[in-house]
Amino acid sequence: MKTVAIGGENVAALGQGTWMMGERQDLRASEIAALRAGVELGLTLIDTAEMYGDGAAETLIGEALGPIRDQVFLVSKAYPQNASRGRLPAACEASLRRLGTDRLDLYLLHWRGSVPLHETVEAMEALKSAGKIRHWGVSNLDADDMAELVEAGGGACTTDQILYNLWRRGPEHDLLPWLGERGISVMAYSPVEQGRLLADKTLGRIAATIGATPSQVALAWVMRSKGVIAIPKAGTVAHVHENRAAADLVLSADDLAALDAAFPRPRGRRPLEML
Ligand code: NAP
Repeated sequence: MKTVAIGGENVAALGQGTWMMGERQDLRASEIAALRAGVELGLTLIDTAEMYGDGAAETLIGEALGPIRDQVFLVSKAYPQNASRGRLPAACEASLRRLGTDRLDLYLLHWRGSVPLHETVEAMEALKSAGKIRHWGVSNLDADDMAELVEAGGGACTTDQILYNLWRRGPEHDLLPWLGERGISVMAYSPVEQGRLLADKTLGRIAATIGATPSQVALAWVMRSKGVIAIPKAGTVAHVHENRAAADLVLSADDLAALDAAFPRPRGRRPLEML
């Protein structure tokens, strides 16, 4: 499995998202089986958030992992309103309880809110010192916010989790180079645009010429750059298996050129988009 460094540690470049998981009883068994199959296949980074199903996704992950928790690099995210010195410890503790673990491998600020960044940095560092989290990072922060974060003492930030896929190439203009230069890993969320990208006819045509599925091409494309992790959410074992093959798919220069022609690079700066 291709890896990406987070805080000097190598983690799987293909992980598993969990937004919308744990919310429907009829899908529960399939979602648990998918997460477990993913870990077995090497998709050992799992991303979640206190927001997802109001804790239901974290509870599902806790149930799915049980004794295999130590094989996983577990990522969760705090609401911006909880990212203060006073509130972050309790939010983290609640996530740990739902996940059935004693530490998070990575804790992210879900998006920027009104708590000053320097206060969030302090709160994250305190959790790290207490052994509750191993690394911390952010999500949905654009290049200007990232520069401000570093100015605010956030030099230990390891990751920016952002919307990035073939339809959303804006970050290539300035944010990805900025992060790359500083060794801050990128976690690309909604890498198949919540499933909508998979119906794109042009992507379908290109995938057919490569002998791969649209999902495999979309994910391999996201992971083509050093330092970028893709975290697709797959609720079935079949989708997990299909996606796993993307980590071994190397796109040729011709494949990349065809994708560039169909999904052009940004010509100028575009504000970071969010889903
Ligand atoms: P996504 O991963 O782009 O798409 C998920 C959808 O694609 C699901 O409906 C899934 O269906 C389908 N899918 C996955 N693999 C497939 C395959 N091989 N064939 C056909 N369909 C497939 O969207 P996402 O869930 O929004 O993003 C991924 C993760 O990123 C989230 O789960 C979450 O952990 C994180 N995220 C973070 C933020 C943030 O603000 N930081 C925002 C959005 C997402 P099935 O469920 O049926 O498999």
